Amino acid sequence: MSFQSLGLAPELLRAVADEGYARPTPIQQEAIPLALAGRDLIGSAQTGTGKTAAFMLPILQRLAGGDRGHALRALILVPTRELAEQVLQSARAYGRHVRVTAAAVYGGVGMEPQTRALKHGADIVVATPGRLLDHMERGHVDFSRLEVLVLDEADRMLDMGFAPDVRRILAALPDKRQTMLFSATISPEVDALARRALDGHASVEIGRRATPAEGVEHVIVAVDKLQKRGVLAKILQAKPAGQTLIFTRTKYGADKLVTFLRREGIPAHAIHGDKAQSHRTRTLDAFRSGAADVLVATDIAARGIDVDGIRMVVNFDVPHDPEVYVHRVGRTARAGARGLALTLLSPDEWLLMGDIEKLVGQVFPREVIPGFEPSVPPLQPRALKLEPARPARSVRARVGGRRRR
Ligand code: AMP
Repeated sequence: MSFQSLGLAPELLRAVADEGYARPTPIQQEAIPLALAGRDLIGSAQTGTGKTAAFMLPILQRLAGGDRGHALRALILVPTRELAEQVLQSARAYGRHVRVTAAAVYGGVGMEPQTRALKHGADIVVATPGRLLDHMERGHVDFSRLEVLVLDEADRMLDMGFAPDVRRILAALPDKRQTMLFSATISPEVDALARRALDGHASVEIGRRATPAEGVEHVIVAVDKLQKRGVLAKILQAKPAGQTLIFTRTKYGADKLVTFLRREGIPAHAIHGDKAQSHRTRTLDAFRSGAADVLVATDIAARGIDVDGIRMVVNFDVPHDPEVYVHRVGRTARAGARGLALTLLSPDEWLLMGDIEKLVGQVFPREVIPGFEPSVPPLQPRALKLEPARPARSVRARVGGRRRR
């Protein structure tokens, strides 16, 4: 299937070609014709599936065809400022051949430039809920001409406690509008939000439930907790190709790991909620440009990190929520590329890993790195009776590990 067959205007097809996209992703194939037809959508789609273009291209087409003069006509609510910036950049990139303006509104930076953008009438506003409410309370926002609402990463918005804010925003919007909701998982809470946002309108559900992107190789290294950082340093010292994004559960853990890696001669950087916005922006820019290639992040700080060259995602801590695993590893193997998801698994995390394997429907072999054998040898969790994944070669070859039977 081609972008041409989806019903997009020539200006948007040109922008898509400028981006170098050869063909639409599955979510784009499903969503774009429905969105162009003005349908309300509930999309189960995680980051990395091309969901931003799936809603942005139809919005741009609708707004480009509208009347002249700028007014807020499409609102996109997102959970984090990083994602807001990312979505704004997508609006600009996909909208470069049409006369549609866009602005982002999020916390942690001054109100004034955002106020000016809102008063001037940006066609598309990408906003985090808290800051948008601030502007609404100050009378900076006019929703009278709003036509489209997108709730992006709705599950994350709820996780971050934005439900009351989102409800207040919904109450201020015109009833007659197109609504699209995207979420990596459609939990009962997301479902309830969707029902409220769609307010009885018929909607179309698209996308599948969370499964890791194809092209990701999952490698599980069994190791004692206190040895994790040593194993990681050894793997990183072998200079794996491309960029590495490492997840820790806590901000403190992220800082401690960065300090350790630097002592081992690996120039790592941390990004999490305790860092100033300017620092986060600088770190992300360095990572995006390739000037920094090892980034340690917490899950929340990593929202919206959209970097194409990530070759390896490392789970330094195994996430408690199996969906988070899928989300994390979705940062690698973007848009058809290949990537590696490395999990450092200590004995206290076996059960968590079992939950993850149940969710993704695969059991991954446990690897052991010589010199870092865990005190409790890993069992192969065959009792699950699931298909074992293909044995992973790259990390073993790189660090001289061997598979443990
Ligand atoms: P998203 O899921 O919206 O965060 O997009 C993930 C990444 O895929 C972004 O870097 C996009 O630039 C890229 N992308 C989106 N659509 C396509 C496509 N049709 N072909 C190739 N890459 C794409």
